[in-house]
Amino acid sequence: MKKIFLNESDIPREWYNIVADMPNKPLPPLNPLTKQPVGPEDLSPLFPMELIKQEVSAERYIEIPDQVQEIYKIWRPSPLYRATGLEKLLNAPVKIYYKYEGGSPSGSHKPNTAVAQAYYNKQEGVKKIITETGAGQWGTALSFACAQFGIECDVYMVKVSYNQKPYRKILINTFGAQVYASPSNRTQAGRNILAQDPDSPGSLGIAISEAIEIAAQDEHTKYALGSVLNHVLLHQTIIGREAEKQLEYAGDFPDVIIAPLGGGSNFAGLAFPFLKHKLEGNSNVRCVAVEPASCPKLTRGKFMYDFGDTAGYTPLLPMYTLGHNFKPAATHAGGLRYHGASVLCSQLLKDGLIEASALQQLECFEAGVLFAKAEGIVPAPEANHAIAQVIREAKGLRKKACKKQYYLIYVVMAL
Ligand SMILES: *Cc1c(COP(=O)(O)O)cnc(C)c1O
Repeated sequence: MKKIFLNESDIPREWYNIVADMPNKPLPPLNPLTKQPVGPEDLSPLFPMELIKQEVSAERYIEIPDQVQEIYKIWRPSPLYRATGLEKLLNAPVKIYYKYEGGSPSGSHKPNTAVAQAYYNKQEGVKKIITETGAGQWGTALSFACAQFGIECDVYMVKVSYNQKPYRKILINTFGAQVYASPSNRTQAGRNILAQDPDSPGSLGIAISEAIEIAAQDEHTKYALGSVLNHVLLHQTIIGREAEKQLEYAGDFPDVIIAPLGGGSNFAGLAFPFLKHKLEGNSNVRCVAVEPASCPKLTRGKFMYDFGDTAGYTPLLPMYTLGHNFKPAATHAGGLRYHGASVLCSQLLKDGLIEASALQQLECFEAGVLFAKAEGIVPAPEANHAIAQVIREAKGLRKKACKKQYYLIYVVMAL
């Protein structure tokens, strides 16, 4: 493997907002009762005003606050690697780079937005933040971010992951937050699910309902979401903006960008800054979002207005969805077990500007093992999806003896 660093002076100081460049702007979220677009006052019980402004912003660049930039320095800029070991094994006409977000305090991309969200909450006097977590990455990231700003934090963790990953609970507790297995009997939403199915393994949709239900009851408590929303995708663009600089040093521009998609934030974070060149007509880059075949909202879901959570507490979002009551199988890629996809990714897919692929769990694990042996990083089950896709494409190119393709993929470490 070959590592490409970034000088401190090259670190991006702004996030990129793709809304400014989208040919078809995203449709507005709707109030489920009135079916009218939601206003800031609908969202203010849950989010600080600055994040609501970012949610509806059409400004191309949004400045990263100094204090957020300071905390980013703990793990940013993140390294970009050339996957020379994997390239050798594949023996195909490909050059593969991967942006490695595994060195962050939680071990994934999630702190990029957790720190920003905790910062804006602190600015507006919020004392406590409640959230959900799937595989535990988001809960860890937010508990770390809240510790940085002296904010209390409660986390509702999807039960199947809570049982699979007890060490995640320890990490979250270490950062000072409380963790509850979801569905829990602490909320009406949780109790309703347990009454129907006492052994429910939980889902992100259910855990979101529990967190929202509690946050909405207290004026000093807010809610935070780890993916899906526009402001979350915005914060993650630091990944792609750094990668763009690093590839500039390497003298390359990717032909294909691949990332796993749960709600869409790591995919958007890596891909959107490159997609900008395509929207401007200067590149033909393919951006491929990879989902598990067991939760195939992009490839088999419908584009329609649907709730972001199971109980129906959120506004209606225009997105590709399997329905908010969809019960994903208890696979290992906990971060990808979400019934919908972000509004921005959904609109771009509908407009043919990005692509989607759905892969089986076993193929993804095999790809992860191959990658681990070749590169010395054991990838997370979610990241395995991106690796499996690049391996598929490489094998296809080898058969057709194509011109060399340059790939950029997203990777984080297991846990
Ligand atoms: C949360 C998570 C995902 C999926 O969520 P996105 O918002 O689609 O990024 C993927 N991989 C890891 C490691 C995660 O923690």
